[in-house]
Amino acid sequence: MGSPKSVKIGTVTIGGGAPIAIQTMCSTKTADVAATLAQIKAQAKAGCHVTRVAIPNKEAALALSAITKESPLPIVADIHFDYRLALMSIDGGAAEVRINPGNIGAKERVAEVVKAAKAADIPIRIGVNSGSLPQNLRHLPLSEGLVQAALDEIKVLEDLDFSAIKISIKATDVLTTVKAYRKLHTLCDYPLHLGLTESGTLLNGAIRSSAALAILLSEGIGDTIRVSLASDPIKEVLVAKELLRSLDLYQGGVVVHACPTCARCHGSVWQMAEKLEERLATFKSKRTINLAVMGCEVNGPGEAALADMGMAMKGNKEAILFVKGEMVASGPEEEIFNKLIEKVENYYAEKM
Ligand code: SF4
Repeated sequence: MGSPKSVKIGTVTIGGGAPIAIQTMCSTKTADVAATLAQIKAQAKAGCHVTRVAIPNKEAALALSAITKESPLPIVADIHFDYRLALMSIDGGAAEVRINPGNIGAKERVAEVVKAAKAADIPIRIGVNSGSLPQNLRHLPLSEGLVQAALDEIKVLEDLDFSAIKISIKATDVLTTVKAYRKLHTLCDYPLHLGLTESGTLLNGAIRSSAALAILLSEGIGDTIRVSLASDPIKEVLVAKELLRSLDLYQGGVVVHACPTCARCHGSVWQMAEKLEERLATFKSKRTINLAVMGCEVNGPGEAALADMGMAMKGNKEAILFVKGEMVASGPEEEIFNKLIEKVENYYAEKM
């Protein structure tokens, strides 16, 4: 569902019924072109659709053209305060600029950025954050303040006859974020970028982001997501991908199911499952492949009957390979692990 209106960030359509796009943001110094490009390439390999770089200074803005020329992903330039950095970024090939018109300053400065965005035919993301809410809105309940800030910013751009707009209104709190986006969704039809701000470290951040985003996405709210984590951006992409996949909003790649283990367990299920996940994290396929790692050969394959295939431990560092619950091979754990990988790669890899 999502928003009726759409924008294009490079080749990626956001909104208008397009698939939900996954975004992340580089953690490298933007001025370090080689490190930033290496990270963007890894993000793309992990399944990211759009990435963002911060442009805190002139060096970063100047580095942007070298990055956009080589980048496999469209790049959003993130600018605060200095409109000249936005202009330089647009010149440098940014596929979108993220600004907060409220902190760019005088109207003429916003108008300059809008003029350049129009000429380059790129959208602007209005990024409202709970931490930087305008003074005049701080008396409101936070969710209402976020929505009002977004509406005020939309008006600034619309008054300049600009409509290639995408909006985010992020809070750190799950329920505030949900409330704010629900409200904004009823008041405007521009595409929405969903996310929590400062959601936390890998485990907590993934849980809190998933809680908020799953509620909104299942109500048809949201067109693109960023799972913001105090962790490697590649992890952000993998968490976002898994979140979308679990809501049936993303097809492809591998999901590893694993039993929790119990007293019947005959092997190292947790480690094997992690190893499998790591090995196939960037695997590309047209439909989602369900794999299972189970702790015992008797109950395991039956419990994982819905998996496409998997391995079950049988003791003495041996395991069986099963396909749709039926055993097809038996042998040392490592050998079965490799056979499983081989089967996945032979049968399901998307032909590029
Ligand atoms: S598959 Fe076997 S080891 Fe794993 S939880 Fe079930 S019974 Fe226990």
